[in-house]
Amino acid sequence: MFRTHILGFPRIGAGRELKFALERHWRGEHSIAELEAVGARLRARHWALQRDAGMDFVTVGDFAFYDQVANHIQLLGCEPARFSFSAEDHELSRYFTMARGVSREDGDEAGAPALEMTKWFNTNYHYLVPEFSADTDFSLNSERLFAEVEEAKNLGHAVKAVLIGPLTFLWLGKEKTAGFSRLSLLEKLLPIYQQILARLKTLGVAWVQMDEPILGLDLPSEWLRAFEPAYHHLAPAGAPILLASYFSPLGENLGLACRLPVAGLHVDAVCAPEDVPVALDWLPTHKVLSLGLIDGRNIWRADLDRALDLLRPLTSTREVWISASCSLLHVPFSLEAETGLDAELRSWLSFASEKLHELRALKRALENDPVADEMLTRSRLALQGRRESPRVHALEVQARMACLPEDIDRRKSSFPERNRMQKARFRLPLFPTTTIGSFPQTAEIRARRAAWRNGKLAQSAYEAATKDEIAHAVAVQEALDIDVLVHGEAERNDMVEYFGEQLAGFVFTANGWVQSYGSRCVKPPIIYGDVSRPKPMTVFWSHHAQSLTQRPMKGMLTGPVTILQWSFVRDDQPRAATAEQIALAIRDEVVDLEKVGIGILQIDEPAIREGLPLRREKQADYLAWATRVFRIAACGVADETQIHTHMCYSEFNDILPEIASMDADVITIETSRSDMELLQAFGNFHYPNAIGPGVYDIHSPRVPSVEEIETLLEKALTVIPAEQLWVNPDCGLKTRDWPETKAALANMVEAARRLRQKQDKTR
Ligand code: GLN
Ligand code: ZN
Repeated sequence: MFRTHILGFPRIGAGRELKFALERHWRGEHSIAELEAVGARLRARHWALQRDAGMDFVTVGDFAFYDQVANHIQLLGCEPARFSFSAEDHELSRYFTMARGVSREDGDEAGAPALEMTKWFNTNYHYLVPEFSADTDFSLNSERLFAEVEEAKNLGHAVKAVLIGPLTFLWLGKEKTAGFSRLSLLEKLLPIYQQILARLKTLGVAWVQMDEPILGLDLPSEWLRAFEPAYHHLAPAGAPILLASYFSPLGENLGLACRLPVAGLHVDAVCAPEDVPVALDWLPTHKVLSLGLIDGRNIWRADLDRALDLLRPLTSTREVWISASCSLLHVPFSLEAETGLDAELRSWLSFASEKLHELRALKRALENDPVADEMLTRSRLALQGRRESPRVHALEVQARMACLPEDIDRRKSSFPERNRMQKARFRLPLFPTTTIGSFPQTAEIRARRAAWRNGKLAQSAYEAATKDEIAHAVAVQEALDIDVLVHGEAERNDMVEYFGEQLAGFVFTANGWVQSYGSRCVKPPIIYGDVSRPKPMTVFWSHHAQSLTQRPMKGMLTGPVTILQWSFVRDDQPRAATAEQIALAIRDEVVDLEKVGIGILQIDEPAIREGLPLRREKQADYLAWATRVFRIAACGVADETQIHTHMCYSEFNDILPEIASMDADVITIETSRSDMELLQAFGNFHYPNAIGPGVYDIHSPRVPSVEEIETLLEKALTVIPAEQLWVNPDCGLKTRDWPETKAALANMVEAARRLRQKQDKTR
């Protein structure tokens, strides 16, 4: 018997209704009741879509006003004590306080920073990190999930409820006090899960999906050992449990997953097809096997025939469920809104709503329902069209890739030699100062760009105004006496979009939004074909900027891995191959910039860490190609040309050798939020090239004092030799205002000056 279900659906809504409702509520224009009504409407709509597509259950519990982990913090009654909530505080207002923090300006005496946010496994979704201490207690503290189950039942749906499993929930959190392991809280946590399961059973849910994606990680043995006893506690408590893992192979944890006393197991057959035959073999036949055959992370139409080939032989052996690999949270809502895409390209795609239909087609085909034939034919034609399309395959790109010179990813000389030449060329002072690229993206800049894009502002007027903006940025930096300048990126909307729009092989949707965190959505470009650069992308602006000053002007580019990581990537060739094509395009840009006299180039790779596979055994391969494609992009230049890179948003301590292997002459890196912890690691590792540890946090409007920056630099000097140290903020300044930017940079330059004086004296 076959059934269909999904692990979760995008909650933001077809027209991002949830985003707008949240923002209205936060501005004080919408009451809690109005917000709740929007939530209920969205849930009802999304359940109806699931039912209409023939899902055997609707999934309840995947909805969240901000984040599913935050929902669990309330459900399990472990809101951190530091927020000092009182009994009268409304549940949702506590929820948003945890998510967004309270600042002192809000009238709160102490202020309370929001919960930390971090990436959900290897996705670009960010969850709120639970905080644990040795005395954390749990209690069943929210009726929300049960109310949503009632809601679905009242609408006549068969319900599968979804919960984050207890071990994954603990794993996702952080110990806020020393000397204990959050795993020790499991004993206190399990009784609450038992209560929840019992309640769900009373409410008549058919199944409970327990997400334990940490089974796809290389877990410490004590965590692994905790699974069996935990699930022995939970299994008898309520409705049958479907244990779900995704994003990464279960691998050697598959035996454990099959043994757990639960009624079913979901495996991600897209990212770990190798798990499928093993699960079929090991999972006792009385248990349900849910196969995630439709890619929940990407937007391509599925190969239904291939799925059917796998499914058909299973007909009589056991109960099999068909699903998407993971929650559909990670893909846009529906293709319906994409009227601007040409029909051919559109036929290659499948967003969340279309994926429901693909699941329905699979089920119907297995039931030999003739209605499936039409869908299968359409799908085959589209797939064939995509495979053969000349839009996908660019012969010149492939010819170039086929004969890359062996030294394409090497500079001519080693860093010490290049360094000598670059020092002679640029004559920068000790502790050179610079910024990361962007300057404040004022409302005026954004409005002007929008007007130009909509054809309401002439090209010439737009160009003139943008040149003025650049001239202003140059004047400000010269007045501040910054050593290496930037043009300010006023012409860019987003660091990936700007390049994607100019590269061949990319397409942009009108409404392909995916939730990033809270009300924040991103619209990743789609890389559908071979990537190439029809013409220079940044040369015009950078060349102009350099013409305004005697000081070096950095050319500013986004690196191949970051462009790849923040896009939907084609699935018909390895990611590494696509990355290599992007790298070659960026390389050509770098070389063209060098030709017009740009002596320093920065290639940003903030996303290099987030592409790291979850399984250790797969990491070396990724790091090898990710660092290689960076070098391909960077290494087309002469030794006298200086290459910078920039990284942020992640912890880099564990990949320092690989970062060093990228061989950038200078790396500027976010360190201020980790309290310079990273610097220590750079010091211990003896990072060979130059480093600019971010000396202040640009995410806050606070202006750092000269002394503060000086102290930080002194600290940096204890681990980094003076000749290798650069001075810069920790990221681009586009989210800041001009007054605070100028004040902060003035202090930064002054701190560098004082440090130089001190060094002179000691020499
Ligand atoms: N050059 C980019 C900027 O300054 C870098 C942004 C980033 O690291 N995310 O905006
Ligand atoms: Zn950054």
